[in-house]
Amino acid sequence: MTTIKKISKKEAQILEKRLFYQRRLVWDELAKGEEKKVWELSEDYKAFLNASKTERETIGEISRRLSRAGFIGLDQANPRGKVFQVLKDKILALAIPGKIPLSAGLQILAAHVDAPRLDLKQHPLYEEADLAFLKTHYYGGIKKYQWLARPLALHGTILTAQNKKINLAIGEKEQDPVFTVADLLPHLARKVQMEKKLSEAVEGEKLNLLVGSIPLGPKEIKERFKLAVLSYLEKQYGLIEEDLVSAELELVPAEPARDVGLDRGIVGAYGQDDRVCVFSCLKAALEVEKPNKTVVVLFYDKEEIGSEGNTSARARILESFLPRLFSLKGETFSPQNLDETLAASRAISADVAGALDPDYQEVHEKRNAPRLGCGICLTKFTGSGGKIGSSDAHAEYVYWIRQLFNQKGIIWQTGELGKVDEGGGGTIAKFLAALGPDIVDCGTPVLSMHSPFELVSKADLYMTYKGYKAFLLAS
Ligand code: MN
Ligand code: MN
Repeated sequence: MTTIKKISKKEAQILEKRLFYQRRLVWDELAKGEEKKVWELSEDYKAFLNASKTERETIGEISRRLSRAGFIGLDQANPRGKVFQVLKDKILALAIPGKIPLSAGLQILAAHVDAPRLDLKQHPLYEEADLAFLKTHYYGGIKKYQWLARPLALHGTILTAQNKKINLAIGEKEQDPVFTVADLLPHLARKVQMEKKLSEAVEGEKLNLLVGSIPLGPKEIKERFKLAVLSYLEKQYGLIEEDLVSAELELVPAEPARDVGLDRGIVGAYGQDDRVCVFSCLKAALEVEKPNKTVVVLFYDKEEIGSEGNTSARARILESFLPRLFSLKGETFSPQNLDETLAASRAISADVAGALDPDYQEVHEKRNAPRLGCGICLTKFTGSGGKIGSSDAHAEYVYWIRQLFNQKGIIWQTGELGKVDEGGGGTIAKFLAALGPDIVDCGTPVLSMHSPFELVSKADLYMTYKGYKAFLLAS
């Protein structure tokens, strides 16, 4: 026969304190003097976001900051010390050589620089009802209605018939014009929008961008609104219509990053998935001096469309970058050394987590959803329909990370993307995992994710940066 154990209220409270896991709010836990760092970091972060509206601009901004900090491009003569390499202006790898051999393993951080947006089609320009438009094809997972009736900026790269490369950004300066996708007035939207499913209410082929309204030439000219736009583009940039075929032009929200809330505790901006992790990785790497293990930070493109193509996490960038590191450190390179090094490495897939939405709590499983303000989020597995498509980190590795964060005073939480079978998504973790290192997803919680105005807590940004720095310095 068993007896039921009786304990006092006080004993139960002590036991509760010792045994229960407690989610912690960063604002409650900031050490003295840390609050100032939170505000300073977020100011620099907003400046970074404003300079990094596209994947190319992000890589450009990272390169500038690295060069300023003394990192040497691998394309320069006799690179040594802290180095970096840019490929196709869209992807970047950096390394900080460690004191011990590469075969002891690397500390790898990997984030992605692309974000959902509207791209232009190859034959974008046309006119309709005395107005000129550009046709778009959206990139990544967007809710199309969010892109209507808002000021958009046009960014991108065009090669002219004379092989001149033009990098454009129209709509960011206050004196610049902006562009927009007009929406239908509610008075007439009942049948074509309001009565439809949200996913069908805005058709992709109706995401057409208004670019002109004044004709050029007499009425006898058939497409004089289109002609006016082309004439402007020729005057300004020396373009002809065919140049648009090879151009990469992207539409992004025209607003700069802003503080949100009376207390200014949140940054609101486009592209924070995943530039909040990109920025945090960069900040952390810039503060690492003479680490024990060699540090590698990777900034990938094309995550939002499934990591396809030669600038994605599926491309063999790490395998081509690492042999250079071996020679840089004066160590012997062989395919076997490479495999051993990767297998001994630790990695973080530095990507954001979908924070619990207070208005839609029913899609989350509250005990396992990350919250804004509760620190960097550790996501053991991603995927959907039974973890399909996830690399699912090992117990030993998750243990190692949580111990590291606890020792270094990093406020962390765990997160899962929504309820089981509610939806889901993947990250670059599985592509790096396939090369050998232990890897786990770990990044900043984001509210209103994939929208044109994403929200990140400044406290979580600070803990993300601090967490990544602790990771890079770990041995
Ligand atoms: Mn992401
Ligand atoms: Mn995303």
